[in-house]
Amino acid sequence: MAQVIVIGSINYDILSTMQRAPRAGETVNGETVQLMPGGKGLNQAVAAVQQGVPVRFVGKVGRDLFGDRILSFFAEKGIEASHVGRSADEATGSALILVDATAENRIVVIPAANKQIVPTDADGLAIGPGDLLISQFEVPRATIAALFARARAAGARTLLNAAPALDDAPDSLWSDTDILVVNETELGHFAGTALAGDAPVPEIAAAARRLLRRPDQTVIATLGVRGALAVTAAAQTLVPGRKVVAVDTTGAGDCFVGSLSARLAAGDDLPTALRYANVAASIACTRIGTGTAMPYAEEVKAAL
Ligand code: ATP
Repeated sequence: MAQVIVIGSINYDILSTMQRAPRAGETVNGETVQLMPGGKGLNQAVAAVQQGVPVRFVGKVGRDLFGDRILSFFAEKGIEASHVGRSADEATGSALILVDATAENRIVVIPAANKQIVPTDADGLAIGPGDLLISQFEVPRATIAALFARARAAGARTLLNAAPALDDAPDSLWSDTDILVVNETELGHFAGTALAGDAPVPEIAAAARRLLRRPDQTVIATLGVRGALAVTAAAQTLVPGRKVVAVDTTGAGDCFVGSLSARLAAGDDLPTALRYANVAASIACTRIGTGTAMPYAEEVKAAL
C-alpha cells in the first residue's frame, strides 16, 4: 500500500492554565499542567495514521527525556520512525503554552532540533510511485525542497502545508509541490492580497489560482467553518463546512491535512479525499486538544 511520508516538526507541548499570566519579573501560581506530543508534523502524522494508512516520519528530536517520550509515542501510534534522528547538541522542540482564565493564550515555540533536519536524514528511505510526501513550514524549507525534488523524481506526489506563512522557501519548492494547502491567512499572505474573513468564494478562488505554478497543480484553501475550496487551473471544488458544535478548533488544520493525505495515499480521488478531510476536521473541532482530538477512520466513516 502507498504510504504517507511526513517531513515534519516535533514539539513537546507544555500547557499550563492559570488565573492570569505573569507580567515581566513576576511569578504567579498556575493551576494545571499538561505535557503532550505536538508540532504540526507530528499532529498531521497522527491524523493520517488513524485513518489506517502506513505513515513514516522524517524528523529530529534531542537526546533528552522528551525525545525518548516522542519515540515511544510514535511506536504506540504505529508511526514508523527509523528516520527520526537525535541531535547531539539541540533539545527536542517544545512549545510553552500559557492559558489564562479568559482562555487567552501566550505561546513560545522553541524549534530546537527541528532546525537541524537535513536531506540526508532521509537517506535509505524508500520512496516509490503512489507515495505521498507531506511537509509544513516548521522545518527547514531547503530540506523540504530537496526531498520534494527527490520524491517527484521517484514518481511520488507531494503535498505542502505552507504554514506558518514564511517567505524563505526556495522557488523550486513551489513548483515541486503537487498539492498546496493553506488557510485563509496564509493564502492572503502568499497571494499578496488581504482577504477578509468572509471573503466571497470567487475572490478566494482567484487568490488561490495566483499560487498555481504548473497546469497540473492543486491549491486547497481551508475556510474554517465554511469548509474548503480546491482549485486547479481548469476547475474548482467547494466542500461546505459540516455543521458541528465546535468547542476547540486548534489542530483542525492539521487534522484536515493528515486525513486528506491518508485518503489520497489510499487511492481516493481529490474530491472524495476533500469531503473525507472536511468531515474528519469537523470532528476534531468538537474535542478539546490537538493530537487527542484527531478522529479514527471508523468515526469519520460513520459521519460521512
Ligand atoms: P487551526 O490553525 O485552528 O488548526 P487552520 O486555520 O489551519 O486551523 P481552518 O481553515 O480553520 O484551518 O480549518 C481547517 C478545516 O477544519 C476546515 O477546512 C474545515 O474542514 C474544518 N473546520 C474548521 N473549523 C470548523 C468549524 N467551526 N466547523 C466545522 N468544521 C470546521
